[in-house]
Amino acid sequence: MEIGNSSPILTSVGMLNGVGPKIAVLLQQRGIQTVEDLFYFCPTRYEDRRVIRAIGTVPEGERATLLGKVVTSKEHYSRASRRRLRTAVLDDGTGNITLKWFRFVRQYLRTLCRKGNLLLVTGEVRRFGDGFEMVHPDVFLVEDEHDVSERQGVLPIYPTIEGLKQGTLRRIIKAAFDEHGNHIQSFIPAAVEKSQAVPSLNDALVNLHTPDESILNEGLREGYRKRLILEEFFLFQVALLLKGRQIKQDRGISFKSGGPLHSSFKAGLPFPLTPAQKRVLEEIMSDMEKPESMNRLLQGDVGCGKTVCGVAAACIALDSGYQVAFLAPTEILAEQQYLSIHRSFEALGMQPVLLRGAVSRRDREPLLKGIKEGRIPIVVGTHALLQEDVKFKNLGFAIIDEQHRFGVLQRKTLMEKGLNPDVLVMTATPIPRTLAMVVFGDLDVSVIDGMPEGRQKIVTKVFNEAGREKAYKLAEEELRAGRQAFFVYPLVDESDSSELLAATKMASHLKKTTFSQYRIGLLHGRMKAEEKEEIMLSFRRGDIDILVCTTVIEVGIDIPNATVMLVEHAERFGLSQLHQLRGRVGRGPYPSKCLLIAAAKQTTTAKRRLRIMEQTQDGFRIAEEDMEIRGPGDMLGVRQAGIPRFRIGDIVRNGDIMGRARAMAEAWICDAPATELIRIGEESTRRWGANLELYEVL
Ligand code: ADP
Ligand code: MG
Repeated sequence: MEIGNSSPILTSVGMLNGVGPKIAVLLQQRGIQTVEDLFYFCPTRYEDRRVIRAIGTVPEGERATLLGKVVTSKEHYSRASRRRLRTAVLDDGTGNITLKWFRFVRQYLRTLCRKGNLLLVTGEVRRFGDGFEMVHPDVFLVEDEHDVSERQGVLPIYPTIEGLKQGTLRRIIKAAFDEHGNHIQSFIPAAVEKSQAVPSLNDALVNLHTPDESILNEGLREGYRKRLILEEFFLFQVALLLKGRQIKQDRGISFKSGGPLHSSFKAGLPFPLTPAQKRVLEEIMSDMEKPESMNRLLQGDVGCGKTVCGVAAACIALDSGYQVAFLAPTEILAEQQYLSIHRSFEALGMQPVLLRGAVSRRDREPLLKGIKEGRIPIVVGTHALLQEDVKFKNLGFAIIDEQHRFGVLQRKTLMEKGLNPDVLVMTATPIPRTLAMVVFGDLDVSVIDGMPEGRQKIVTKVFNEAGREKAYKLAEEELRAGRQAFFVYPLVDESDSSELLAATKMASHLKKTTFSQYRIGLLHGRMKAEEKEEIMLSFRRGDIDILVCTTVIEVGIDIPNATVMLVEHAERFGLSQLHQLRGRVGRGPYPSKCLLIAAAKQTTTAKRRLRIMEQTQDGFRIAEEDMEIRGPGDMLGVRQAGIPRFRIGDIVRNGDIMGRARAMAEAWICDAPATELIRIGEESTRRWGANLELYEVL
């Protein structure tokens, strides 16, 4: 068995027969380092050259293979296209056609097109003047009959590598198969492969690179490609599951549920939990009772009631005498998190503490002391809480808000401090299922898939600049009825290069014009924390009618009386972000409106995106669309770096295969032999080591 780096197919391409230093560099520039990389460099299409057509009979617009003699050839300057070109007229007795090159190596073409040469050419036949032409055809110089039969067949056509001819590529790949073909080895165990009814890895590769005519069958061809994708997705999923296992092996806390705080929190809720919330809470509680440490992701649309579940779970930890931490990615979000849980805990007679980054040493000291001595049971802050000078007495439970990873390394840091809390990651950004399988594949996942009853409908409308007054009118109807509104802007200040409306400027503009009889408040990221809190509180109290703000309100604000979300320059926001914003309204007993104002000049993509907002309120559907339009990397923004690269597989288009790989990996890993696991562990570290590590660093 070949293990890790010793496998011969990991030999550098430069070692192959016929690959000199020049070619090796060209390949490496394309990311092809090893023989294995070469195997995975797949043709984009195939060309059927079995039939040689008579020049006189080929209709224009068709690709064809022709065989004929060069009757004339010349290099000249074309005034029309203002560049040098080489033409050659090919004749086979039934007719003639002009071959044309605009980019060429002069010496090479001069020799190739010498009068009398017999050429086998393939390309698209086009009309030109009275005759026909073929531009940049594939050409072979035919010396005898044997040459022709060798060139005829179904040829793989590879993605272009600058400076490398298709023929050279084919030759190199053939050499790779001759020398190393017998070392191709799948990471999918034989039994699993059999149960999947897929071709073997070797068959797939051989058929893709050295095809016979059956490759022209699309179903068969796709089958081979999918087999290669399954290979890498399977390997990746096993790696993730292994990582998840590693976390579970760490000894954690075995909490007892059903304590007094937990019970009175639930009893005090003014509403019954939804079935989805109950199920999720069961899943979390069962994890907490177990002696291994929990590493669970709680996913659910904005406002579906995740925080309630989180607080209920935190009570279990508090009941057992442990401390609880709520972690948010930014200071602002930490403040909002603090506001939203504060009331719940206060009702239970507990006092959560917000640990700000920017407080004086004098204010900070007593808090740190309280946390260290365990007198402060609930702390809210950023991730810095876990790393800096903060010492917990007995942290037992951490809730991590939004998109941020809690990795093995961090857990190690905590364990070194004598702590190994259960961890619940909460995300309100719906992540497409397939992407979740990639990015969060090592976590257990709970999903709240329904909304609490009585949620109000939110009507969404897109306006262009001309429709602005209409949008304002719709907003005003609500204000007149006593409701409140958010007006969101993409930036705080007008930067010189941008024509964006700045929140600050707009706030004073609105005050002077359309909305002069309403009370307008301003909230943006550059304000001091106390100022922000003050503004937010007065908006909550109803002392402000319109809150003009930047996206700082994105997460965590809960104002039941707010029924208007007006977004300026909506085209600049991501779909998921717009969905988050929209989730800030419709939280009370009133139907609500989401008004999206977009610049007049929009790209088709921008238009399509905004139309989706009008069509659906389903966060998961929006996320899928977003991913399709923007690609997974963009969608995740900061997490982009954490998305692994696959050689052939595409997590957007091949989501079904990812799901299949996941299921295969889960079924197999339970009683997989250790040697196999080690082999896969080594290989996945080699391929995605950086990505797998990145997960672990925040
Ligand atoms: P999330 O954290 O998922 O955005 P929250 O837990 O903050 O959602 O809940 C959003 C709002 O819905 C809060 O006002 C909360 O009190 C309310 N809520 C939560 N669960 C229910 C429920 N089962 N029935 C009615 N209202 C609920
Ligand atoms: Mg919340």
